[in-house]
Amino acid sequence: MKTVLITGASRGIGAAAARLFAKNGYAVAVNYCSSKEAADRLVAEITAQGGEAFAVQADVSKADEVKRMMQAVYDRCGHLDVLIHNAGIAQQKLLTDTEEQEWHRMMGVHLDGAYHCCQAVIPAMVRQGYGSILTVSSIWGVTGASCEAPYSAAKAGLIGFSKALAKELGPSNIRVNCVAPGVIQTDMCASFDENTLRGLADDTPLGRLGKPEEVAEALLFLASDNASYITGQVLGVNGGFVV
Ligand code: NAP
Repeated sequence: MKTVLITGASRGIGAAAARLFAKNGYAVAVNYCSSKEAADRLVAEITAQGGEAFAVQADVSKADEVKRMMQAVYDRCGHLDVLIHNAGIAQQKLLTDTEEQEWHRMMGVHLDGAYHCCQAVIPAMVRQGYGSILTVSSIWGVTGASCEAPYSAAKAGLIGFSKALAKELGPSNIRVNCVAPGVIQTDMCASFDENTLRGLADDTPLGRLGKPEEVAEALLFLASDNASYITGQVLGVNGGFVV
């Protein structure tokens, strides 16, 4: 059975990806940080539909927690075909109002998280002779967003990280790609008021915001053998917001 670990899968894009990968025959390790109930509910839903899933807690910014999570995943699955580093946090603030600890938290979840998770899976992927690693960046990592300098920096960092790793791991038959979503209707956008959301939809050529399921489809494609000659790429899933 194919296996995938999705970080930040208790809600939003990660949860949509967990459902879709399970539907497509993957055993899914559902990572969560604090939303245990949501992760357990998702696992129960997937299992009830005949899929295979289990929840694993870890704050991906913490090396020891990621190590423990990976041990649990390998104990349970034996191997890992796909890693999706999707966990993320967002914050809208002037840079001058941003506390140092907020800056470090942003880098911790997105970049330290990518480092810890990839370090933990690469040796086994190299030994098995294949693997697919996906990171979830953002349009703001491509274009930059006002009042989101730390988030934009972290997401731009993930793009550089993914491209570099694609070059490093290509000879080991491990593909590394990045998905850069536009504005997607999840809890992450809950702090935006209706006017802001309508404005963002109006600025999108397709005239609406995205759904988590639409990002999940891109992740499934890039993870699959249908994308066997695609590595080091950044796929925008943004309704044409950035072209
Ligand atoms: P969301 O609904 O807020 O969900 C965030 C997920 O990340 C949750 O499952 C959360 O887990 C997890 N998470 C946060 N910090 C974590 C940590 N330290 N360790 C492990 N998991 C952690 O957000 P989303 O919209 O689905 O976002 C998913 C990814 O897409 C993020 O990387 C985000 O930056 C990116 N993205 C989103 C949008 C958008 O418009 N929604 C656009 C572009 C990119 P717990 O609840 O268990 O803490």
